[in-house]
Amino acid sequence: MMIWKILGDCLPTSGKMYFLNNPDRHCLLCNSETEDAFHLIAKCNVTRGLWFKSKWGLRLDSMGWNNVMDFGKWWTNLSDHELLIFSACLYDTIWFWRNNIFHNHCSWDTHLIYNDCLKCFVEFSSSDVVIEANEEDRHLLEKKDWTTAMPKNTTTFTVDASVAEGWVGIAAINSMGTLLWITA
Ligand SMILES: [Zn+2]
Repeated sequence: MMIWKILGDCLPTSGKMYFLNNPDRHCLLCNSETEDAFHLIAKCNVTRGLWFKSKWGLRLDSMGWNNVMDFGKWWTNLSDHELLIFSACLYDTIWFWRNNIFHNHCSWDTHLIYNDCLKCFVEFSSSDVVIEANEEDRHLLEKKDWTTAMPKNTTTFTVDASVAEGWVGIAAINSMGTLLWITA
């Protein structure tokens, strides 16, 4: 969603909201330039740091992006599915934190933003994606395995339900695919 807002130039950045008479339109993350969409996606030192820290080690200054559309062309032509998801998570997280700082004046650091970015990436990645990470970040990438965390003699099962014409149907299937319970 964030990516489409960037590409559609409808991100309500400080630089864009000049009519609010806000005297300070500097980027809330790096405080070095006027905050606009292109600054946030490509020029901000925080964004650059996060990209470089990622497993792709991207150096944004060597991407040859001169405007939002250059970024858009790069993003829409990505064939690396993981990179596609990671970039969406990265920009989503940056925007979340930018708003958090703007509205709540909360304290932050790049490590905190990067951790949130990784959590988002894990959430949106398919379970068979193999993620490479350094030792420090590895624990953030571990998906919780509820089956091993469960006490012994406990059964895990999947539940599905549907509602139609005032009736509710519920079914429970265990991990072996056996139907344990059905009711309507
Ligand atoms: Zn910045």
